[in-house]
Amino acid sequence: MINIPEIFGTKVFNDPMMKKYLPAEIYESLKSTATRGEKLNAEIADAVAVGMRDWAISMGATHFTHWFQPMTGFTAEKHDSFIRPVSDSEVIMAFSGKNLVSGEADASSFPSGGLRATFEARGYSAWDPTSYAFIKDNTLCIPTAFCSYRGESLDKKTPLLRSQEAIDRECRRLLKLFGISDVKKVHAEVGAEQEYFLIDSEVWSRRPDLVCCGRTLFGARPPKGQEMGDHYYGQIKPRVLAFMQELDEELWKLGILANTEHNEVAPAQHELAPIFSTVNVATDHNQLTMEMMKKIAARHGLACLLHEKPFASVNGSGKHNNWSISTDTGLNLLKPGKTPSQNALFLLMLTAIIKAVDENQDLLRISVASAGNDHRLGGNEAPPAVLSIFLGDDLESILEDIMAGEKPEDRPRTKLNIGASVLPELPCDSTDRNRTSPFAYTGNKFEFRMPGASCSIACPNMMMNTIVADALSQFSDVLEKSEDFHSDLNKLISENLIRHKRIIFNGNNYSEEWRCEAERRGLSNFTNTVEALPHYTDEKNVRLFEKHGVLSRAEIASRQEVLLENYVKSLCVEALTMIDMTRKEILPVVLKYQSFLLEVLEKKRAFGLSESVEKKMAETVSEEAQKLFCRLEKLETDTDRSHSAEGSLENARFCREVLFEDLASLRETVDRLESLVSKEFWPFPTYAEILYSVK
Ligand code: ADP
Ligand code: MG
Repeated sequence: MINIPEIFGTKVFNDPMMKKYLPAEIYESLKSTATRGEKLNAEIADAVAVGMRDWAISMGATHFTHWFQPMTGFTAEKHDSFIRPVSDSEVIMAFSGKNLVSGEADASSFPSGGLRATFEARGYSAWDPTSYAFIKDNTLCIPTAFCSYRGESLDKKTPLLRSQEAIDRECRRLLKLFGISDVKKVHAEVGAEQEYFLIDSEVWSRRPDLVCCGRTLFGARPPKGQEMGDHYYGQIKPRVLAFMQELDEELWKLGILANTEHNEVAPAQHELAPIFSTVNVATDHNQLTMEMMKKIAARHGLACLLHEKPFASVNGSGKHNNWSISTDTGLNLLKPGKTPSQNALFLLMLTAIIKAVDENQDLLRISVASAGNDHRLGGNEAPPAVLSIFLGDDLESILEDIMAGEKPEDRPRTKLNIGASVLPELPCDSTDRNRTSPFAYTGNKFEFRMPGASCSIACPNMMMNTIVADALSQFSDVLEKSEDFHSDLNKLISENLIRHKRIIFNGNNYSEEWRCEAERRGLSNFTNTVEALPHYTDEKNVRLFEKHGVLSRAEIASRQEVLLENYVKSLCVEALTMIDMTRKEILPVVLKYQSFLLEVLEKKRAFGLSESVEKKMAETVSEEAQKLFCRLEKLETDTDRSHSAEGSLENARFCREVLFEDLASLRETVDRLESLVSKEFWPFPTYAEILYSVK
């Protein structure tokens, strides 16, 4: 039996360890740096470095690294050892404040989206003291932000931290108007539920598409998929359980609050949910969770798939981003309060979020846009590509009352006077949760369900923080000038609700009616990444990010560029993998099977037996083989052309309009052939073999 409290956080340089390894006054300065965002001076950095090194060495670390999150969406690290020679036969273990605070890396291979020319290829990493250092692979990992020579952000973390400042600033400004001035810090908090597939690694290694692209590029529908619903919350198989136990243990050691583990809807699909934490910590922890999932799976002879849609015909994997805003005094601003004044604040926050989401549907869609997630959004199981907010009936009817106050010609309702005593008690938890909504209010938080399983949550949360900070800032602009606070507050809330109520939808988001209704309401529907991404640099968005100091115009353009490049690369890798598998294995096998049929046919004919079955089979396979060859040749030609357009947007469009369709049509033929060709000939594990590979 493991003792969880005893192992929890043992690989983290957290509070108790800092207290143990740092002099008291150094510990205090470091804490105020972390909590109040103050600058750390060089002397303190040196002292922290000594304590951190001693702790790391006591944990068996031999190296240190600046751990950062480049725009690839993965994490990066370059290990340096602690050793420094003091003579030709002696070394000491050295680690200075300078080593801790900043690093310089030849970063020319990380995407910069044009922000960095090769002659200034250096990138700089800077310690983020708001996230604890930790030990992984005998290495002290120091969470850092990563930027270019000129200070432009080249990572996912910097804009997230900037957006935390924006939400802090704008919330405190608004809280003051409500007479709440004891709050020193406001931050967004996030719990990211992570879905994933686990399959046998031997089976995985026989599918080059899973190995190279993370998803299957073909595979006929299995006889049994998820239709029986027997996997969801079902019994966990012993091998999977052993994996989950080790994963939990490793995550706990890293101070990650892994909490619930269960089977998901699709066969071989599972979910892990941590207990929520501050958003930048939650982001680091989610990156580490994904990394540990892959690593620990391998130890159990398993492969962990984090792709959004590894298999057609069964559910894809998402990452539900549960987001809320809290003060350092313990107030959750998204929770209905107990007094009318607290409720007024809550309703204003709610209105700000409704306005923010409605005005920035494009940005939220962009924050989750990737080639992988395109297969999921708009599929049958996941939220659609259209954004809408689910509030639940109780809350919606309260908002209706507020709006009725502004528009008396509507249904005869009691006008709600926000902030005065007539306000009814607001529901604390909405029980009628709507699983189809992309953005659902769940009692004290919003659950954004569009992020894909492999997506870094940095970008969605950076967007949430910024767009909500902006709505709050516009509200404060009005209320700070107000002479009659209550009446202006009422007006502000009801006017904004009326303006933005089109984004509220409590019904079934999968239905065809909603697609038409959403279109009628004028909501945007970016069905794929290439449609969504050009809007990143829309003037409204540049103004928004610059206003709140989250991203500069150049940084936005570079992010757009990197995302487009990623899209093109993903599709090209898929195309090349599909070509390789088809040309080298599927096509030869189909020819071999045809020759086998023809041999039988000839033998039967020579013997004077009826060969009608073989003839029919040979004809069908031959027709499909013909199609296969044509479609393969088309994919090959188009893949060669895929980089020929000017600019990455044009390349991405080509990939979406041509390669994507080529891949789908070749897949159709391959799937058909898989169901025609005898099993002993077929070169790759089938869906049934993969999905039920873990016994
Ligand atoms: P579900 O029904 O979707 O499983 P849960 O209530 O179990 O929802 O919570 C899912 C996630 O939401 C967990 O990671 C949990 O820690 C997180 N969560 C709960 N409360 C908050 C909050 N106030 N802010 C952010 N995340 C939260
Ligand atoms: Mg959920």
